[in-house]
Amino acid sequence: MQAFDYAAPHSVDEAVSLLEQRGDQARMLGGGTDIIVQVREGRRRVALLVDVKRIPELNHLTYDSQQGLIVGAAVPCYKIYGDAAIAAAYPGLIDAVSLVGGTAIQGRATVGGNLCNASPAADTIPPLIVLEATCVIAGPQGRREVPVEDFCTAPGRTVLQNGELLVAMRLPPPRPRSGAFYLRFIPRNEMDIAVVGAGASVRLTEDRTAFVAARVALGAVAPTPLLVNEAAAALVGKPISDEAIQAAAEAAQAAARPIDDMRGTVAFRRHLCGVLTRRALQGAIQRAKER
Ligand SMILES: Cc1cc2nc3c(=O)[nH]c(=O)nc-3n(C[C@H](O)[C@H](O)[C@H](O)COP(=O)(O)OP(=O)(O)OC[C@H]3O[C@@H](n4cnc5c(N)ncnc54)[C@H](O)[C@@H]3O)c2cc1C
Repeated sequence: MQAFDYAAPHSVDEAVSLLEQRGDQARMLGGGTDIIVQVREGRRRVALLVDVKRIPELNHLTYDSQQGLIVGAAVPCYKIYGDAAIAAAYPGLIDAVSLVGGTAIQGRATVGGNLCNASPAADTIPPLIVLEATCVIAGPQGRREVPVEDFCTAPGRTVLQNGELLVAMRLPPPRPRSGAFYLRFIPRNEMDIAVVGAGASVRLTEDRTAFVAARVALGAVAPTPLLVNEAAAALVGKPISDEAIQAAAEAAQAAARPIDDMRGTVAFRRHLCGVLTRRALQGAIQRAKER
C-alpha cells in the first residue's frame, strides 16, 4: 500500500480548498470500496485522500413527495433501501443500490462514489439517468448542477474539474402513473460486474394504455453509461404493445457500442441489450400501472 495523507473536513468549503491546494494529487474518499482497492493495487496514485463522510451536507438523505429526493454523496447504499418512504417512491433506484456488491459492500459504498468512479458498468448510473437525476457539484467557483447522463465523460473520468466535488444527487418527485426498473446480467448471482445493465422509466396515460414519456439507459456497452433517446422515441405517444417494446429494444441494441472482453463478446452484449431493455420496460410499465 502506498503512503498518503488523510484529511476529514467538516464542510464543503474546507473540502474544496483542500482539493484546490493539492490538485490532481488529491481524491475524495467515500466508502473506499473502489478507491482503496485502486490505490492498494497501484492503479491510482494519490498523495491525499479527503474523506467526505464527516461533511454534514453530504450525509443528507431527504425525501419529500413535492420536492423529490436528495441523496448526499456520502450516503451509503443501505441507508437508501432502508428508508421505507424512499423505497416505495423510487423502486427503480432500489433495484440498483440493493445489488451493488453484497451486504458488506452496501454498508460502505455510496451512490456518489459509484458515479464519481465513472465505471461504464456502474449499477446506479442507468437508474439515476432514467429517473432524471442531476448532480450537485461544488467547487472554487461556486455550485453547478449537471444531468447524470452528462456527468461521466470516459471510463474513470467525469466533468469534475480541479477543486470540485460531488455534493449530492437530486431526483425529481415521482409522477403519477410512472415507474422505473433496473436490472443487469452477470454470470453469477452476486459480487460481479454487469456484463450489461439496463434501466427504463415510463409515464403512462390516465387510462394506463399508452406511453406519455419514457427513458432508457444502458450500462457496460459504451465508454460511459448511455441514455438512448431513440428507444424513448419508439415509445412516446404509442399504445403499450409488444411491438412498441420490441422497437425500443432494437433501438437500444443499435445505440450500444460494446466491446469484446472476458465477460462477453460484442454479439452477446448486443443480444443482452435487447433482452434487458424489454425486461426493464416491462418492469417499469408494471410499476407505473400500480401507481
Ligand atoms: C467486492 C466488490 C463488489 C462490488 N460490486 C459492485 C457492483 O455490483 N456494482 C457496482 O456498480 N459497483 C460495484 N463495486 C464497486 C464499488 O463498490 C461501487 O462503485 C461503490 O458505489 C463506490 O462507492 P464508494 O463510496 O466506496 O466510493 P470510493 O471508493 O470512496 O470512491 C470512488 C471514486 O469516487 C470518488 N469520489 C467519492 N466520493 C466523491 C465525491 N463526493 N466527490 C468527488 N469524488 C468522489 C473517489 O475519489 C474515487 O475516485 C464493487 C466493489 C467491490 C470491492
